[in-house]
Amino acid sequence: MNCPYCGFHDSKVIDSREVNDGIRRRRQCLSCGSRFTTYERLQPASLFVIKKDERREEFNRDKLLTGIRKACEKRPLPTGTVDKLADDIEAELYHLGRSEVPSAVIGDMVMERLKSLDHIAYIRFASVYREFADITALKQEIDTLVGSEVSAFVPTSQLPLLPDDRLVARSRRRGQTRGRRKTNAKTGSRK
Ligand SMILES: [Zn+2]
Repeated sequence: MNCPYCGFHDSKVIDSREVNDGIRRRRQCLSCGSRFTTYERLQPASLFVIKKDERREEFNRDKLLTGIRKACEKRPLPTGTVDKLADDIEAELYHLGRSEVPSAVIGDMVMERLKSLDHIAYIRFASVYREFADITALKQEIDTLVGSEVSAFVPTSQLPLLPDDRLVARSRRRGQTRGRRKTNAKTGSRK
């Protein structure tokens, strides 16, 4: 592996440890002294992804990584989060033990993880992956997200979608709306 900074062909390993299904090696370039990281992993039996238009292509971890990275761009996530996410998904895919997986399954795996990780990244990914037809569909998704956040346990590590004060105001409004709906349902009237 050539040095990503100067292109020199040789480096020494300064640290090595096992991660998930591979080995992570911290290297130092023997020419310029820069440090970089490589991963060594076993190439499992081929896995094919069935696309929406029925075409098949070999599973490509880099492609998955690029998609996640784009969604997480400039989000305040700990270093290595994106790689770990891709690792987890890749491992889960191979553990399915299937030779073909619909692209939708992979998309859902990413969505599920991003949802509990970072809401902005989630919405970004969803907007590409689900190809929201218009702004209304996108807004619906955001509303669902905010709704579930308000009603469910919110982990402290979760980055808020909205600034705190707006979120609280919104949850209050939502609570009222929900209350009204319940009453209306009982009386059978709809608003
Ligand atoms: Zn170098």
